[in-house]
Amino acid sequence: MDTIDSLLENNRTFAAGLAERHLDVEPQSHLAIVTCMDSRLDVFAALGLDQGEAHVLRNAGGVITDDVIRSLAISQRRLGTREVMLIHHDDCGMQKITDDGFRMELQETTGIAPSFAIESFGDVEEDVRQSILRVRRSPFLPHRDVVRGFVYAVDTHALREVEVTG
Ligand SMILES: [Zn+2]
Repeated sequence: MDTIDSLLENNRTFAAGLAERHLDVEPQSHLAIVTCMDSRLDVFAALGLDQGEAHVLRNAGGVITDDVIRSLAISQRRLGTREVMLIHHDDCGMQKITDDGFRMELQETTGIAPSFAIESFGDVEEDVRQSILRVRRSPFLPHRDVVRGFVYAVDTHALREVEVTG
């Protein structure tokens, strides 16, 4: 049995133990969170969020890509979110590669140069600042006055805020 099969079994137990209910498609806290795919960060538990309360967008590094802006535009313009919370974390896999090195690896092993940016980073706080600026300067997002960025310490579970000017 592979991992997915055992998860399907978990879901049968999960669904059987819960009453049917319907939540509104609009997140009740009017919040969108952009964070890393890191398996150690349980976003809902770490922030005390419940189902139906926030959008959570995840990718490698919590990078503000065009696709994240696409999702945020839908989140704000159709689904009522107004605040954006960015969460990066220490010990991130994106700090263990370089853009040039990983790009070269992809090209050498596949023969194809990737069309996407790798977006590795060294300094996590500087990367949070850059991400905040990308959101704040996106013309596609109507709500940009509350955009805050944080670093999550994976060992202590604590968040610290990263200040940015501009
Ligand atoms: Zn990460």
